[in-house]
Amino acid sequence: MIRRVVARASLIFLCLSFSFAAAASKPNLVVITLDSTRADRMSFLGAKGAHTPNLDRLAGESIVFAHAYAQAPGSVVSHATILSGAYPQSTGMTEIGGTLSSSLPYLPDLLKSQGYRTAAFVGSIDLDPWSGLAQGFDRGFQTYDAGFRPAIPGDARPPLTERRGDQVAARAIAWLDHNAQQQFFLWVHISDARARRASYDSAIAAADAAIGKLLSALQQRKIYENTAVIIVADHGESLGAHGEDAHGVFLYDETIHVPLLIKLPASQAAKPPTVRVSAKVRLVDIAPTLLEIAAIPIPSQMQGQSLLRIAKSKSSGSGSGINGDQPVYSRTDLPQHGFGWSPLESWRAGKYLYIRAPKPELYDLTVDPGAAHNLAQSSKATLDTMAAQLESFDRHFSGEAGKSSAELSSSEMQKLVSLGYIGLQKSSASAAAVAGTDPKDKIATANKVLEAASTGDQSKAGFAMAIAALTPVVSADPNLYLAQYALGAALARKGQYTEAAKHLHKAIELQPDSAWAHYEMGASLLKTGDFKTAVVHLEIATGRLPAFIPAHQALAEAYEHLGAPRTRNSSGTEQKSRKPHVHFSGAFDQSVGTRTEGALPPRRRRLVYSVTLRSLRRHPQRSHHATHPPIHIVSHDKAHGIFSGGHNHIVAVVQTVLLERLQAIWLKICFDVLGELVGRIARGCPHYGDKF
Ligand SMILES: [Zn+2]
Repeated sequence: MIRRVVARASLIFLCLSFSFAAAASKPNLVVITLDSTRADRMSFLGAKGAHTPNLDRLAGESIVFAHAYAQAPGSVVSHATILSGAYPQSTGMTEIGGTLSSSLPYLPDLLKSQGYRTAAFVGSIDLDPWSGLAQGFDRGFQTYDAGFRPAIPGDARPPLTERRGDQVAARAIAWLDHNAQQQFFLWVHISDARARRASYDSAIAAADAAIGKLLSALQQRKIYENTAVIIVADHGESLGAHGEDAHGVFLYDETIHVPLLIKLPASQAAKPPTVRVSAKVRLVDIAPTLLEIAAIPIPSQMQGQSLLRIAKSKSSGSGSGINGDQPVYSRTDLPQHGFGWSPLESWRAGKYLYIRAPKPELYDLTVDPGAAHNLAQSSKATLDTMAAQLESFDRHFSGEAGKSSAELSSSEMQKLVSLGYIGLQKSSASAAAVAGTDPKDKIATANKVLEAASTGDQSKAGFAMAIAALTPVVSADPNLYLAQYALGAALARKGQYTEAAKHLHKAIELQPDSAWAHYEMGASLLKTGDFKTAVVHLEIATGRLPAFIPAHQALAEAYEHLGAPRTRNSSGTEQKSRKPHVHFSGAFDQSVGTRTEGALPPRRRRLVYSVTLRSLRRHPQRSHHATHPPIHIVSHDKAHGIFSGGHNHIVAVVQTVLLERLQAIWLKICFDVLGELVGRIARGCPHYGDKF
């Protein structure tokens, strides 16, 4: 007996030591991205009076990159580059929408396939794959904690567009409690500096405190040693520099120079662990670096390179020179997509910053760190050299520039033309072309529109302020997409749907492939009763926002109105159509179930008579979507409204479909869909685990 217990105990011990050895060989990877955080506000990079004690302590045991640069000054595009190791031209993302190319090697996907548990916790709706602009970001993540909610026309609930850093950290720590036994990849996005409730410096201090909580959670669980921690900002914040209030338009150091720290797992750390690298490095290098730390081969399509070699080669030197570093490319498409102006590109090489713009700029940052004295006229030879280098870099992407997953088909274009849209253009045929209005000349307008577009998302007071700010902007210049879109959306929030539709119409003329403008337009037309036109816009929107449930709900509602017209009987009273509809269309996704619009009592019988697999037929090439059809369920029983709610509700409805007098032809389809649903429920809904 005793022998057996001893034997079992030693077996357990063997297992424990084995799993410890396995864990030690594959380090955990934690990436913390700080939104809108400038390098010059970090005290470990020399900022005076900055309050970043947790970051400073971490810097004491990390490789500190004093000259790290973002490839884009916006959250969505920059995070896409961080997580994919690809330049903005290749990720297909823009700051007004897009879908991350599914053929792109993607860090979470690669790590998951190597046995890592993968999780993301984000602090802003922009990075919500289901309600924001970051479609496709959830690929490879077993958990993607977002769950934000934009303002929906006619929905009384307040929107949820951001979460404080300490809350995001707490959610990530709760995840660690259940998942830290196995090697994991954890991405945490802290957006305090972007949301900025008080001063910028106090927002940075709040972000630092959230990081402190995360780091001590790793220490308390005794996994800190075997964890690589990367801290990086997606971009900085102009805070008025060069006339820019926030970020997104310009490419100066205030928004492109970012903090970057890499704490290696103990087994890989240099001695002493602090290394300061002064060579220029790029955020496109982060994904390859993480793969090297995890000893996973770096796919050849990744465009960055691991920073470990640079760090090792620099560690022996004095670290004060700027020789031997890589040139850095950055770009911004927001001026073009948001305003119809010229895009900007920049090239940092040696001591120079070159900005490719209708009016080109050249700065010697060693004597002019604030980029105040443009040398473009006086240093023509240097300007030409820098321009030629940027040109040759751009040529690598000549096949990819301007490629957009959201582009309208010609039949969609024709439908819009027949609805009275004029001057429709396939947007950004050549994304690299620098031409037209120089954003420098219009920065005050951009400030106004970007500020209004962000307040217009928040509250009733915000909508009113946005309307007041944007109305004079669009009457002075009607050709600013973002101004027309934000004004239309704010008017819709206020219930002024007819007025909203006018501005959204113009927004669509300016950016015909903007899915969000089509959604807002469709949702507004639903309220004005123009269901036929609403369907055109909502079909475009749902095709491009397959996981955005409110668009599917709005489309289902429009179908319902068109497909089952209410009739009046001889006495003039309105008769309810006897036959409610169920529409299956687009892609079924795990996010179905994020919003329960009204509980369906499971035993309640519903009359359901037709099942439409529209999108399945329309998008047979989208195999992912075809195998996961999303669902629009419409009940004619207005007391319960439209529900595309939780899985249980959907199953209940599908069961009702089966139990009711359903035509035999639909039975197989229903069984298939039901099987998929049951499978999904069985697999759970990890990123919304707390809602079920
Ligand atoms: Zn950002």
